[in-house]
Amino acid sequence: MERTLTILKPDSVAAGNAGKILAHLEAEGFRVVAMRRLQMTEAQAGAFYEVHRERPFYGELVEFMTSGPCIPIALERENAVAYLREVMGATNPEEAADGTIRKLYATDVGRNAIHGSDSPENAAIEVAFFFARADLLG
Ligand code: UDP
Ligand code: MG
Repeated sequence: MERTLTILKPDSVAAGNAGKILAHLEAEGFRVVAMRRLQMTEAQAGAFYEVHRERPFYGELVEFMTSGPCIPIALERENAVAYLREVMGATNPEEAADGTIRKLYATDVGRNAIHGSDSPENAAIEVAFFFARADLLG
């Protein structure tokens, strides 16, 4: 069974959509392996999005991701990484397919409700960013 990392982003938590999004993910066959709620520091958000450091939206992205609590979740499912990307929808909600989480809950390309790992390699790195090995035994 494959694992991936999602984050219910600060916009989702602030809007009271976290439960609905988690229910959506469970209905799509994802199982919660580990879950936390935290407000990321600038250092944490900066490190998590390190690959985007040179992109023009990096500063805004770090500011948004530290603006309130978020909920990282380690998820398990067959084909979890690719399937989560499908269920999330396109980065820009205007381009997201009907019925996807971003179409349903995102505000704009920055405040887009949810994160999902983009490859199995990055999923392993991102799960380990938030969760200790002892959290991931179930
Ligand atoms: N982002 C943004 N403006 C852009 C592209 C991305 O604010 O033009 C933000 C957005 O929150 C996105 C995150 O940066 O989810 C990471 O970007 P990526 O291209 O990895 O998109 P994702 O993998 O989240 O779909
Ligand atoms: Mg990405």
